[in-house]
Amino acid sequence: MQIYWTKINKIVEETPEVKTYLLDCPEDFTWEEGAHTHFAFEGFNAGEKPNRSLIRHMSISTLPHENSIGITTRIKEECSEFKSILRNLDVGHEVAIFKTHSNIPLKRENKNVYLLSSGVGLATFRPLLLDYFDRADNVSHIHSLNIDSSKDYLFTTLFEPAPDKKFTSQFVDNRHDYYEEVKNLSADKDGLFYVVGSDEFLTENINVLLEQGIKPEQIKLDKHQKQLDKFLTIEV
Ligand SMILES: Cc1cc2nc3c(=O)[nH]c(=O)nc-3n(C[C@H](O)[C@H](O)[C@H](O)COP(=O)(O)OP(=O)(O)OC[C@H]3O[C@@H](n4cnc5c(N)ncnc54)[C@H](O)[C@@H]3O)c2cc1C
Repeated sequence: MQIYWTKINKIVEETPEVKTYLLDCPEDFTWEEGAHTHFAFEGFNAGEKPNRSLIRHMSISTLPHENSIGITTRIKEECSEFKSILRNLDVGHEVAIFKTHSNIPLKRENKNVYLLSSGVGLATFRPLLLDYFDRADNVSHIHSLNIDSSKDYLFTTLFEPAPDKKFTSQFVDNRHDYYEEVKNLSADKDGLFYVVGSDEFLTENINVLLEQGIKPEQIKLDKHQKQLDKFLTIEV
């Protein structure tokens, strides 16, 4: 396993609670849209076993041509040890990234793509949308639906509806409106439904989509095959 030690080069305050940490891109490091990585702090591998309180899975919210690795995360006042360390890191601090992989690249199958996310889950979709805006080949349309009860919606400039680019988007602040909209979107029985959020959020979305007649293979999650099978065989 290759561990890349790199430095924070910029910290962007996206909303009062959400920050994007932009990291220098090591020379031989690359990734695909939808990738996640392991993000860790100094000391995580000092002992015999990795110190899990110093490591978290994080999606990469940028694309390689932006020349920085973006990590977008919410840090609440009451937070874990990991987030409290992160909050105190400044530009120039070293962090580690390793085991980077994309389970959810943008599928170019001439279908409509629905990006369903909760809160900072939208960060996972930012590179998919950038990739689509850069090259729309073989994607019919993209629609994003994001729920954020804080109402401090993320990346609103990029996720602005652009009908000329065959992109539409919606932000909602409550579960009722969110699931009503998921039901409306699932009227498209041929679409691809990407879902990003907590495991509970994934399960709820999968249940609604399957109930509406969407097939498991149309649902895309950031999970390895084994976990995917577990999630997508939920009893309806
Ligand atoms: C493939 C994948 C990609 C992911 N991508 C992202 C991403 O891009 N951005 C992102 O933010 N997250 C992402 N996550 C989730 C991430 O790994 C963390 O689980 C998440 O950010 C919460 O981490 P945490 O350290 O705040 O809370 P955890 O330690 O994981 O605890 C869970 C919850 O308990 C609360 N909590 C924990 N400790 C305390 C404490 N001492 N006091 C009060 N409350 C506490 C926290 O508020 C948190 O909500 C991803 C996960 C996966 C599996």
